[in-house]
Amino acid sequence: KPMENRITDIGPKHFEEFYPEVIKKNKGKWTHHEILEPGVLVHVSETGDEVYTVRCGGARLMSTTHINEICDIADKHCDGHLRFTTRNNIEFMVDSKDKVEPLKNDLKSRKFAGGSLKFPIGGTGAGITNIVHTQGWIHCHTPATDASGTVKSTMDALFDEFQNMRLPAHLRVSMACCLNMCGAVHCSDIAILGYHRKPPMLDHEYLDKLCEIPLAVAACPTAAIKPAKVTLANGTEVKSVEVKNERCMFCGNCYTMCPSMPLADTDGDGIVLMAGGKVSNRISDPKFSKVVVAFLPNEMPRWPSMTDAIKKMVNAYSNGANKYERLGDWAERIGWEKFFEVCELNFTHHLIDDFRQQAYMSWRQTTNFKF
Ligand code: SF4
Ligand code: SF4
Repeated sequence: KPMENRITDIGPKHFEEFYPEVIKKNKGKWTHHEILEPGVLVHVSETGDEVYTVRCGGARLMSTTHINEICDIADKHCDGHLRFTTRNNIEFMVDSKDKVEPLKNDLKSRKFAGGSLKFPIGGTGAGITNIVHTQGWIHCHTPATDASGTVKSTMDALFDEFQNMRLPAHLRVSMACCLNMCGAVHCSDIAILGYHRKPPMLDHEYLDKLCEIPLAVAACPTAAIKPAKVTLANGTEVKSVEVKNERCMFCGNCYTMCPSMPLADTDGDGIVLMAGGKVSNRISDPKFSKVVVAFLPNEMPRWPSMTDAIKKMVNAYSNGANKYERLGDWAERIGWEKFFEVCELNFTHHLIDDFRQQAYMSWRQTTNFKF
């Protein structure tokens, strides 16, 4: 098929070239889908065709060996086709019910040397699916925490909820390793957010040689940076910048523009937990997440304080929410004061800010908060 509006062959091929036969044949004709069991879905077409999907947990960063194994499974069971979901789950699709059990058995039989599952089946319906996350220490320049490590620790702690659909509703967990949030944690039931607490360090000796000073100044959203002349220890006067620390919100934008303004700091960096956000408009309007734990230090490699706080929230939600109620709806129904009590989280003055934007990650609007 000719590639419409494409004048070069640069970039990936058109996705329509990769459809499995049954998907191509039934495009626009699907009538409904059901979740048959955790991790297994069926989509039904008006032509009578069915597609069975087996969903497995994947990782956002994969080795080529692992990807080769995924391709082998797709070749063996699915005519070479598979898809990745936006949450990095791997979906293997087959066109008849009798192909589902052999596929599931094959996936379950594949294990790492230590015995853990390589392709855990689950991640559907009223449970926890894979965590949307960012780059972390692997390859971004501004992270305040790691992404892969925090996500692995959290998914291990919540793994039972990945394999079952026994929560009141979906519970979406997201992770972003700095507040620029390319993980979109601001609308998640539970969000893990890396947070710097110190302004950039200034390497005056190299700053003018490595950076465009006007670019660094312009990068700051709070206008905290201005050009300055600085005298080095050896008496040389150099062009550099000055940062008004009390205006800094530790976003790292300046470091993006200027490698002589790093923020990473062992004591300053750590994790904020947020809760109660969602994009769905079911029961109530979409909501932003609110900060519920102001700071936790980075506790590599397994982040125990973070996973403990997350487990407490998930358990309290699981025990207290009504069917179909998302975490934020439940917290609003019982009252956020009660939320802190049943989740065994401390409410501190750090959770109240004076950010002026209504309804944006702030307790300010809750002027009747009873603590
Ligand atoms: Fe980089 Fe921030 Fe995105 Fe993490 S959230 S990958 S630190 S921009
Ligand atoms: Fe400005 Fe952000 Fe740099 Fe602070 S970290 S000085 S707010 S750009």
